Amino acid sequence: MSEQKTNELVRKIFEAYLENKNLRKTPERFAILEEIYSRNDHFDVETLYIHMKNQKYRVSRATVYNTLELLVSCDLVTKHQFGKNMAQFEKSYGYRQHDHVICIECGKVVEFCDPRIHQIQTMVGDLLKFDVKHHSLNLYGFCSDCSMANKVNESAATAANLETN
Ligand SMILES: [Zn+2]
Ligand SMILES: [Zn+2]
Repeated sequence: MSEQKTNELVRKIFEAYLENKNLRKTPERFAILEEIYSRNDHFDVETLYIHMKNQKYRVSRATVYNTLELLVSCDLVTKHQFGKNMAQFEKSYGYRQHDHVICIECGKVVEFCDPRIHQIQTMVGDLLKFDVKHHSLNLYGFCSDCSMANKVNESAATAANLETN
């Protein structure tokens, strides 16, 4: 699906959702939606707010927060809790199914896709008679940069110990 087509569709979905809930269709809300769909990353409320502000949009933190919650409710945005970090968000409409690997040192988030996970979901659903709708799978560890830095620190500590002994 082309990016423009996706943008039109998500706008229509959000419009219908707001109408249905009797909420106001403010330009700020649509600007936030558009901004989110122009990104390809995971972001927290603060990052999005600062980005909107830098682009000279007059939006308050509260509006960004509240719009994000609305977008999560109508499935246009997915909310993640990666470890103890602040909640992170990403667009979800027309975007490939994926899972995440998170670095516990620097917070880097990498996406991966493995069809076997979907197979497990279907199999477990069948087995336990569950109509499984979605899943979340997060793997935690050290990214290559951080494990490299850790090794350097460790050998520096060992060298320091050898010197003092
Ligand atoms: Zn890292
Ligand atoms: Zn993701």
